[in-house]
Amino acid sequence: MNAPQRRIAHLDMDAFYASVELLRYPELRGLPVVIGGRNEHQPTMRADGSKHFSRLRDYSGRGVITTATYAARAMGVHSAMGVMKAAQLAPDAILLPVDFPLYRHYSHLFKAAVSGIASQIEDSGIDEIYIDLSDLPDDTLALARRIKQAVKDTTGLSCSIGITPNKLLSKICSDLEKPDGLTILGVSDIPERIWPCRCVKLTVSARKPPTNSHYWVSQRLPSWRKPN
Ligand SMILES: [Mg+2]
Repeated sequence: MNAPQRRIAHLDMDAFYASVELLRYPELRGLPVVIGGRNEHQPTMRADGSKHFSRLRDYSGRGVITTATYAARAMGVHSAMGVMKAAQLAPDAILLPVDFPLYRHYSHLFKAAVSGIASQIEDSGIDEIYIDLSDLPDDTLALARRIKQAVKDTTGLSCSIGITPNKLLSKICSDLEKPDGLTILGVSDIPERIWPCRCVKLTVSARKPPTNSHYWVSQRLPSWRKPN
């Protein structure tokens, strides 16, 4: 007898730390912004009331970037990259220090919002969770949309969700249509949607992606952890 197919969602907040900072500094929307500076890179207020932001070119040291906005990513800057290296690619990008208490606050907010819709949640980090939707009567697409809207309403932030029969595939799928993505796959969709994926699409940490995605999925994914 076949077991009923499970519906496991992986919800990943989009560029989480950077997106939280954009709530605080909306004037930076659309600009390349990276999170990874020290306290000395805190924005300061000028005499005329405008803010002065540090730039990547102002940085010296061995720190790494925790998160970059999508505008910064378009310039080749990404999480876990050394700040000095990023400064070569995007010297004028805005640099902000990390503020973990603030990110934890928003983390609690989005997780509480999801738990109001689906109670079976597995915490997987400050910006991501797995949700077991299997026992809920609602249609999968409708549920996913409700969850995304609840996260948006509660935090002002977007997230991306992948829903498949297992955690591994859902983790891959939440990354396929970022930002603000929603990808729902059944087992029969896997050959068409997963096997053709370029390895670079599945991980930002693979420096030399194997040319055969089957290899990557079987060899690399179990230990995969994306920095953010
Ligand atoms: Mg994440």
